[in-house]
Amino acid sequence: MKSIALLPGDGIGPEVIAEAKKVLAAVGAAYGREMTFESYPFGGAGIDECGDPYPEVTAAGIRRSSAILLGAVGGPRWDALPLEQRPERGILRLRADLDVYANLRPVRVHDVLLSYCPLRPELAKGTDLVIVRELTAGIYYGERGRSRANGEWQAYDTCTYTASQIERVVRAGFETAQKRRKILHSVDKANVMTTSGLWREIVGDLAPEYPDVKVHHLLIDNAAMQMMRSPSQFDVLVTENLFGDILSDEASMLAGSIGMIPSASLGPDVSLYEPIHGSAPDIAGLGLSNPIGTILSAAMMLRHSFGWEAEADAVEAAVFRVLEEGYRTRDMTKVGTEAVTTSEMGSLVAEEV
Ligand code: ATP
Ligand code: MG
Repeated sequence: MKSIALLPGDGIGPEVIAEAKKVLAAVGAAYGREMTFESYPFGGAGIDECGDPYPEVTAAGIRRSSAILLGAVGGPRWDALPLEQRPERGILRLRADLDVYANLRPVRVHDVLLSYCPLRPELAKGTDLVIVRELTAGIYYGERGRSRANGEWQAYDTCTYTASQIERVVRAGFETAQKRRKILHSVDKANVMTTSGLWREIVGDLAPEYPDVKVHHLLIDNAAMQMMRSPSQFDVLVTENLFGDILSDEASMLAGSIGMIPSASLGPDVSLYEPIHGSAPDIAGLGLSNPIGTILSAAMMLRHSFGWEAEADAVEAAVFRVLEEGYRTRDMTKVGTEAVTTSEMGSLVAEEV
């Protein structure tokens, strides 16, 4: 029996979570798996209900759960709040609380999606990669400041990594590669940055422990170019927080819509699953949102948190069969062509499962 904590959040979050829940219920029925679902207030909804984007009732519920499925947070309604009190603050606190240091973002360009890819289709064909991004250290968490000196402003952000922070995420990269095509690209800027020098050293030290994995070192600027030149050469990329943030947004466009991409944030205890998109307040409540990123995030949950490989495969196969049959939400259709609603897409995938 698995207990799943749902954090629907704001904007399109509740709509896409409802569709993922539908698909999980279908998995339970088809495979005889028992799952319970409990929803908790989070983000703007947490602020409205409890005065806190990450309320105690949510933190307590998460501690009792087997895994967490998150929609998205934020929206214009809370934009006037100071940074420290905004919905987004809840996510940073949640990630730190869970210590989810490895963020996995798979990008798969299925043949039926090639026509949405901004590249020439022959370049993106066959792309099936995972970016493993370090999520809880580096420049986003370092000391920062602003001051005036010699009559002008100066500002600084510091990037710090300890050897153990690098080692644990690099191991996640190697282990991910071992389960796939066994190619690991470690992405850094070792010709300029000291943290990258340490990163590269640690990758080199760990490589002999994974003799079946072929390791390549790549500078971030070259990686960004290669991602557009020939993305199908990549299997697993492992990189630090800032580089991973930028590289994964770049790579997500290969699959045609931001609504398509799932993610898993793995740590020592309970893991967190969410689509990479935001709360999309411009389309909330209209049935226009694409729930596939969230449905695929739920599949990652089945695989990584529960070890239910066949069930995860079934969800992924169902998604691509529905796409093959020609069904699309509005973000993936050309003007003047038919689209299905968020809820219809969820039902189609659930039936296929
Ligand atoms: P955040 O800061 O929370 O990431 P954002 O403003 O960067 O939010 P999104 O909320 O992801 O961005 O929205 C960016 C654009 O993509 C919007 O036009 C939105 O409507 C669209 N979009 C995002 N997610 C989806 C989805 N699941 N289906 C369809 N369109 C989407
Ligand atoms: Mg965004």
